[in-house]
Amino acid sequence: MKHTIISILLLFLCIPFMPVGAAEQGNAPAFKPDPLPYPRDALEPYISSRTVDFHYGKHHQGYADNLNKLITGTSFAGKTLETVVRESAGKEETKEVFNNAAQVWNHNFFWAGMKKNGGGRPAGILLQKIERSFGSYDAFAENFKKAAISQFGSGYAWLVQDGEKLRVITTPNGYTPIVDMLHPILTCDVWEHAYYLDYQNRRGDFVQAFLEHLVNWEVVTSRLR
Ligand code: MN
Repeated sequence: MKHTIISILLLFLCIPFMPVGAAEQGNAPAFKPDPLPYPRDALEPYISSRTVDFHYGKHHQGYADNLNKLITGTSFAGKTLETVVRESAGKEETKEVFNNAAQVWNHNFFWAGMKKNGGGRPAGILLQKIERSFGSYDAFAENFKKAAISQFGSGYAWLVQDGEKLRVITTPNGYTPIVDMLHPILTCDVWEHAYYLDYQNRRGDFVQAFLEHLVNWEVVTSRLR
């Protein structure tokens, strides 16, 4: 009994110090990178923990921090990340918001599409769709790798679903296919910060390792609609 009373008293005393959620604060946007679905060294040796420290911990986090600063007190505050991306796209005055929001989204999507001991050939419905769209898995892999290598400068290679077909596309810089209402199911970040520490200028080797050892095909399959 005595303990119960003390507990209740403590609870009341603590209430003013309890953190208030961002949603309840209303005007405090707080986009954060999605938590990584694996430890930072899980993708070794194909993506080193040092690369993940910088790429996730500095670049991805940096885009989220910039975005939060940019949208505080604007009409974007409180909206979902997808909404901010779509509503800021294609407008000169919201270019910075778009670049940072799209980069937060793209990176969430990139990290979630990998796992330890991933890669290789997918199975089931996804493999069927790949074969129907590209002829064979190998033809898809060649296509994806070629696209990733030929993306001039920074950007992403994507596998997108277009009706019953799958297509490989690339986007420059922070651009994201969700703006064009395309349905992405896989992306490889080919900004130099994604591979330079581990592969230097060998982007092709990075993309090959991504396909052979890292892609989480179960997640990619779950993204089909
Ligand atoms: Mn990146």
